[in-house]
Amino acid sequence: MTTDGTVDTELDVTPLHMRKALGRFVSGVTIVTTAEREDESAVHGMTANAFTSVSLDPPLVLVSIANRAKMNERITETGRYGVSILAGDQEPLSLHFAGAASEPDLVRFVWRKGVPLLEGALVHLACTVVDSHPAGDHTLHVGRVEELRYDDGHPLVFYTGSFRSLELVRDDPWGF
Ligand code: FAD
Repeated sequence: MTTDGTVDTELDVTPLHMRKALGRFVSGVTIVTTAEREDESAVHGMTANAFTSVSLDPPLVLVSIANRAKMNERITETGRYGVSILAGDQEPLSLHFAGAASEPDLVRFVWRKGVPLLEGALVHLACTVVDSHPAGDHTLHVGRVEELRYDDGHPLVFYTGSFRSLELVRDDPWGF
């Protein structure tokens, strides 16, 4: 027991404990999408929160995709992907694209640079894959952002396996 009363037990580094520990890092939620051609029937999408910015100049981002996810093979084939950062009211889409619910009527795509993106998202990034790195049971796909757009609004937030909304703590000290 520590001085503040919390239990400080050393844990084995298992996949479950990794998931629980890293689930305490707050993230947004994205839908990653790709398509061989500009045709809705060719689109594949999946929910991902292992997304990060990498570089501003050149403009690079990355997504970490499970090797067993269909998306991994699809991105490798197409060499392109879209990232739609979801707005606070788009939780049903995040469940749909994780295979945890079926909401086909909510799915509407828009196209940027031949890449499909989800209508109503806060941010759209259309990317070309410039590098793919195998990393354990995932692959890191680094994408160069070819086109982007963003809106103001509230993001969908993911923490400890739950979807949440964002509360303002301090108003924009960096001038974003
Ligand atoms: P599937 O499981 O076959 O497809 C996913 C779902 O999307 C299916 O229900 C399918 O019907 C639907 N779908 C696909 N294309 C379309 C389309 N064109 N139109 C309509 N519906 C379509 N996994 C990772 O690898 N990396 C992550 O960073 C990650 N983050 C996650 C974050 C959250 C909050 C959640 C809930 C899950 C996350 N996952 C992540 C898990 C991942 O979303 C699921 O394992 C997903 O099912 C993998 O998709 P798949 O490519 O294997 O395809």
